[in-house]
Amino acid sequence: MNVLKGVAVYRGIVFGKLKAYRKDYFDMYSDKVFSGNSEFEISKFENAKKDAMEQLDGLYESALKDLGEEHAMIFGVHKMIIEDYEYSESVAGIIKKEHANAEYAVWLTSRRFEHKFETMDNEYMQQRASDIRDISRRIINCMSNPPGDKINEDKKSLIIGCDDLSPSDLLELNSNYIKGFITMLGSKNSHTSILAKSMKIPSIISLGEQLKPEFEGCDVIIDGFAGAVYVSPDSATIRRLKKKKELCDKQEELLSSFKGKENVSLDGQEVQLSANVSHIADIKVVKDVDANGIGLFRSEFIFMGRHNYPTEEEQFRIYKSVASKMDGKHVTIRTLDVGADKQMDYFDIPKEANPAMGYRGIRICLDRPNIFKTQLRAILRASAYGNVEILFPMISSLDEIIRIKKILNECKSELRCQKLDFNDDIKIGIMIETPAAVMISDILAKEVDFFSIGTNDLVQYSLAVDRQNDKVNFMFNPQHRAILRMIKMVCDNAKLAGIRVGICGEIAADENMTEIFLSLGVNELSMSAPFILGIRKKVRETNVSLIRDQIVSKL
Ligand code: PEP
Ligand code: MG
Repeated sequence: MNVLKGVAVYRGIVFGKLKAYRKDYFDMYSDKVFSGNSEFEISKFENAKKDAMEQLDGLYESALKDLGEEHAMIFGVHKMIIEDYEYSESVAGIIKKEHANAEYAVWLTSRRFEHKFETMDNEYMQQRASDIRDISRRIINCMSNPPGDKINEDKKSLIIGCDDLSPSDLLELNSNYIKGFITMLGSKNSHTSILAKSMKIPSIISLGEQLKPEFEGCDVIIDGFAGAVYVSPDSATIRRLKKKKELCDKQEELLSSFKGKENVSLDGQEVQLSANVSHIADIKVVKDVDANGIGLFRSEFIFMGRHNYPTEEEQFRIYKSVASKMDGKHVTIRTLDVGADKQMDYFDIPKEANPAMGYRGIRICLDRPNIFKTQLRAILRASAYGNVEILFPMISSLDEIIRIKKILNECKSELRCQKLDFNDDIKIGIMIETPAAVMISDILAKEVDFFSIGTNDLVQYSLAVDRQNDKVNFMFNPQHRAILRMIKMVCDNAKLAGIRVGICGEIAADENMTEIFLSLGVNELSMSAPFILGIRKKVRETNVSLIRDQIVSKL
């Protein structure tokens, strides 16, 4: 048995056979085969293009239905590449001039186009090289049947292993009902990982050289709780993980009976359980667990993976789509929180010695009002289509709120002049994630409609523990008494001012903290959607009046 340790993307335990998802077969076509019949080769290519277009139409439709336009768009881009005149001309030219077979002509065209894109200055264009390769593979696939690519076996027990997976690979593989995947590369924040979570596919990434070609065909077990992969597991391991899986399945089953139930404690205290969303694809799970709404929509993810600022129109379409999908439930859109660990080249943020305490979040927005106004206008316009609220990150002073409100009012006036619809009474809130905001929360509460406590950053700033730094990770303690006292202070001040207070840091999903949060009178807990049912169960089992005094007196 081999035990591989990697990064778990989505929890869950699955058993299956490892199937290599080979992309390197593509280079098998680097050998030219002489063909004396150019016409035949060109018509083979043209037919393959048509088949590929049909496949992409199908993929587009299913992605649109399940995951939204944002994900489906990639297949539109692939169709554009197939329809590109230069691409087809190049293939036909190679077939005719070199008397080559169509597969080789596609391979060579792909390599040339990939090289062209890879050597461009612009990061976005460089990334298009992989789209060219992706689409060329698809066309070759339609002409021949490369070994190792088609997954035709007992699909239901396959675990895919490969160097890396693109989002389109994953969407296609999922339609073949793969059970899970493991990769050598990959990052937890990649598009593929975000998709895997929203599709609930157990997966372990970043295995590096531990994942060896000779494991192909072996029995494997993914333990998505422990971040481990067992290759050719021994019988004791199989027994242990079967038991663990049974327990987990039972828990999931039990939890699903909490769908549609109210988030009310035994003594009648209500709390909203909402979802943190980074991507429109997450909405499917959000609806599945009937979250009360979206407590944190991290809008900066719209700005990632691209080469320029999303326009007002692009942003509006996304916010509108989320707002309408949520059928009147609240959608709290947090304005751009870039900087620190969330860097994008086109923002051109100079290197900083201490980026977490530097140019980030609201500081950038107030410094670059054009970016800010574009986003605010888009959010305001979307507010005509659902229950949209605006949340501002990284607030540390009253002055920032005054400046924000001035800019927001300018946006409203502009929209009024342009006769564009929006909700004039849109609720605005602030993240309480700096110690300064906690200490002046009595003053800030008078200015806004709600607070959302961001414990991830609040812990980092209060305990002086970099949330990114492995060396001090053990000190990153959201249950530190200092943090709990801060949460209490914010809740008390919110209550005095009569505004809503929520928690949207990771700690909101910690069942061990639910009793404390209920005792402090937190109105909303916002977390990754798959955790909501577990917390709902906990809330329904808690009698707050019995524990409140004891808990509060200990803080
Ligand atoms: C937080 O800081 O707790 C938070 C929710 O925001 P983020 O994790 O996006 O910084
Ligand atoms: Mg934060």
